[in-house]
Amino acid sequence: MIGHRFATNGAHFAFTDRWGGVSAVPYEELNLGGAVGDDPEAVRTNRARAAAALGLDPALVVWMNQVHGAGVAVVDGPWDGGAVPAVDAVVTTRRGLALAVLTADCVPVLLADPVAGVAAAAHAGRPGMTAGVVPAAVAAMAERGAEPGRITARIGPAVCGRCYEVPEAMRAEVAAVEPAARAETSWGTPAVDVAAGVRAQLARLGVTDVEDTGVCTLESGDHYSYRRDRTTGRLAGYVWLDREDA
Ligand SMILES: [Zn+2]
Repeated sequence: MIGHRFATNGAHFAFTDRWGGVSAVPYEELNLGGAVGDDPEAVRTNRARAAAALGLDPALVVWMNQVHGAGVAVVDGPWDGGAVPAVDAVVTTRRGLALAVLTADCVPVLLADPVAGVAAAAHAGRPGMTAGVVPAAVAAMAERGAEPGRITARIGPAVCGRCYEVPEAMRAEVAAVEPAARAETSWGTPAVDVAAGVRAQLARLGVTDVEDTGVCTLESGDHYSYRRDRTTGRLAGYVWLDREDA
């Protein structure tokens, strides 16, 4: 259920795998995505189970309507009533509020500066990485008192650079924006390493505490991969700060 979990100075980071939920084939088992064709009741149950495993109130988990852009929303509570904003990063200064990002190959990036009390979650696929969604999230954190040198960044399961084959022209386009993302598949064709691009962006911003789960979603049978399976579920990454009274 919770494949990877990290905690540091009151900041918590967690990434799910695909097991421990109630979704039927082809979403088995712990699909957390609400827009992939799965039974909404199963998704609700799965979200409640994952929250329980993390000690979170499912009502205090903020989800995004991800659109492969670089938009950032600042939140201090669950979206009230209205539409969930179409953004690919969320930032909060509210302790105890969890921010969640959904992926199945794209790179989930969780960020926190526990000293400033600022957390962020970002969805960085190829378009989002090149559009700069992670630097945008870090900038929004900095506006709220975060310092890059104090930020902890955790990068979750995503398709790796040896598996993410793209046309030569697309690789050139990405590399023109972010040279570190230029990659080659294990079979020698053009590829993109989105996580490497994210790491390069973080390094330039002065974020040095960066760890990656090292899991390639396409290679791992324990994770969802859109490129491998097309119709499939979504993994989630969660970040939150301890409440003052915790
Ligand atoms: Zn791979």
